[in-house]
Parts: sequence; structure tokens; C-alpha cells
Amino acid sequence: MWTFAGNKLEFKKYFGGYCRNKVHEITNQYRKSRNGICEYCKNKEELQAAHVQGFERIKLIELILNEYFKVGDDEYLVDLDAFEKEFIKAHQPIDKNFHFLCHKCLAKYDKGFLSEDEILQAKNNDYNKLNVIENISKKSLCLDNKIKNISSESHRNTSDELLKNTNNQLYKNEEESVQDYVKRLLNVLFSKNYYLKK
Ligand SMILES: [Zn+2]
Repeated sequence: MWTFAGNKLEFKKYFGGYCRNKVHEITNQYRKSRNGICEYCKNKEELQAAHVQGFERIKLIELILNEYFKVGDDEYLVDLDAFEKEFIKAHQPIDKNFHFLCHKCLAKYDKGFLSEDEILQAKNNDYNKLNVIENISKKSLCLDNKIKNISSESHRNTSDELLKNTNNQLYKNEEESVQDYVKRLLNVLFSKNYYLKK
């Protein structure tokens, strides 16, 4: 177990870079899953993970230090493994703690020209669209099944009908002679594959 002893400024100096890399590491997979689509403007660009305002990396570091490792006025004794676990935990879930934005939108967000609400609204629209698409595909699946049922029913009806017709054709008509009947019967059987002509 590695332990750091010192003040907040020193901790940030020695571990700030490590924390930045860690953030990159834990957001990378989600960032890639966005396929380069900015959560705000929907343009396809290179994306960056932006902490939700008020929960930036430095603020989270300070919160964790104060909450778990403070031993005096600006004095900290930090179990580094425990710190790392808390730091990772503080960023979950990724989609609620980060926005994935293109450079332009990120610059606007950082300067306060793009508000938290505007981004959240854009994200909600995405979420609603996803739900709509899911519902549509569920409905079309329902429709598919209905069509399948109808067609299998009509198929059954057709084969019932065929069987009835075939049965009728197998009986001798009153007006035909036995010879005609046998000739006709052989043809019927042949046409239904019951009988092979030599
Ligand atoms: Zn954008």
C-alpha cells in the first residue's frame, strides 16, 4: 500500500496528471461507442469527454481528499489505492457525469455559451428518439408476426380447400362411365403425385 502525506496542492501536483489519464481511460470506451456523434450538435467530429459542470476533475479530487483522507488543516494522508477506487466511483455512471462533445461545442460549454440544460435537452431528445425507434421496431415485429399468422392461416385454408377438391375428384360422377371414371381418376392421382405414369 502506497501512502501520500502532504497538502492538497502537492497532491494535485503529483497525482493530477495521473487522475487526468484515469478519466481518459474510464471514458474512452463510452466515447468510442458514440461513433464520433457530438451529443449536442450531432455532427460527426472527434469527441472529448467533458465533466458535467460542478463535478470537474479537480473538484472531485478535492471532495474525495476532504471526505476520506483529511488529517489536519490542509494535511492529508492518502491511501493511493483507496483514493483511486473512490475517484473511479465518483465518475459513475459515465453518461450522467460526462458530456461527449465536439471541440466547438466543448469550447462553448467551457465558456458558458452552452448551458447544462441545453445539453441535457439534446441528450434527452436522443434518448426519446431511441425509445421511439425501439417502439417502432417492436410494433413492426408485432406486425410481422401477425402477417405470419395470417399467411399460415390462409395457407391452411388453401390446403383444406385443395384436399376437399381432391376428395371430390376421387369419386365417380353419376353420369360418367366406369372407363371414363378410371381414366379420369388416374389423371387426378397423377396430377396430385399419388401415382406415377409408366
Ligand atoms: Zn458539437
